[in-house]
Amino acid sequence: MKNEWKRRTKLVHGGTRRSQYGEVSEAIFLTQGFVYDSAEAAEARFVQAGDDEFIYARYGNPTVAMFEDRIAGLEGAEAAFATASGMAAVSGALISMLKAGDHVVSARALFGSCLYVLEEILTRYGVEVTFVDGTDVEAWRAAVREDTKIVFFETIANPTLEVVDVAAVAEIAHAVGAKVVADNVFATPVFSRALEQGADVVVYSATKHIDGQGRALGGVILGTEEYIRKTVEPYMKHTGGSMSPFTAWVMLKGLETIDLRVRAQADNALAIADALQGHAGLERVIYPGHASHAQHELVKRQMGKGGTVIALDIKGGQAAAFRFLNALDIVVISNNLGDAKSIATHPATTTHQRLSDEQKDVLGITPGLVRLSVGIEDAEDLIADVMQALEAL
Ligand SMILES: *Cc1c(COP(=O)(O)O)cnc(C)c1O
Repeated sequence: MKNEWKRRTKLVHGGTRRSQYGEVSEAIFLTQGFVYDSAEAAEARFVQAGDDEFIYARYGNPTVAMFEDRIAGLEGAEAAFATASGMAAVSGALISMLKAGDHVVSARALFGSCLYVLEEILTRYGVEVTFVDGTDVEAWRAAVREDTKIVFFETIANPTLEVVDVAAVAEIAHAVGAKVVADNVFATPVFSRALEQGADVVVYSATKHIDGQGRALGGVILGTEEYIRKTVEPYMKHTGGSMSPFTAWVMLKGLETIDLRVRAQADNALAIADALQGHAGLERVIYPGHASHAQHELVKRQMGKGGTVIALDIKGGQAAAFRFLNALDIVVISNNLGDAKSIATHPATTTHQRLSDEQKDVLGITPGLVRLSVGIEDAEDLIADVMQALEAL
């Protein structure tokens, strides 16, 4: 891959390793292992595998390497490690760096499984975790300590779409020598510049926008060559959360079109947010890309666009939210996001059901809140669908 290539070119051609057959579409090396020419060659490879040499698919595979190189090129990362799911990426990025007695500061608004890893798993192994309001820079400053090893946040929090100021939090973390790990799913690889803005590690659930068509689970950890090779790779390859070659192929195909899809989704999301402003059936419309968002200036500076997800707080609580969901015609009820299909979710009773009422309250997950992941359908059709479902109230 050429470094001077622009992002869209990198997405189509980056990382390609062509076999002797000259295939146009990337080959799926659906093999768990590799044959050596001699016993000496096997020994040599176990001592030090070269760039294009593989040992076992849990350690690496040519199709997986293509995906890792392509996403690393896009993100501007030195290296990447592909994982079996987004949660394998989040837990691997964190656990591979931590040991008992370490301190972590995390934003409190997190995807349910991320919260479980930080609150239930890390603490079980003697890691202390302090949760803060991720939007409050002073809260981060007050929470970090000399022994803080990692600062963790979702750049845009699910489902209330509050935004963390990456550069400001990174400066605070780096002042005490802590590493910044950003779960960047909602920012998307298309709009993210998190590494440039100070994050040390970026993780994605590739299940979301990278696949973008609801087919496979996957994830990826991006960072320096040193961190990926010396910290992440030994942890992942020995604990088993590596990506399968078939999934890597699905994700490579996803990357080819991600820029087109995500930009179309963000344009649709803005059109819907615009159309819904001031609607009588809504308490509020939350979209980071709309001028009405409390952190709109930060969003413009940090990512340019507002991403692909909108949150609607429907008047009348859960009963009204359910009536709205059940009246949708094009938009499907599901819990994925970033898909080409528009998807609506009721966080309070599904993705965030595990939280106490008090936690939901603190995070703004009201009974009327609906998360709308906007797809690539025609904007007019989507607006009409949402409007008719609101009329149904
Ligand atoms: C979906 C998601 C994950 C987990 O990804 P999986 O691929 O489902 O394991 C982690 N973080 C965020 C912000 C997510 O939206």
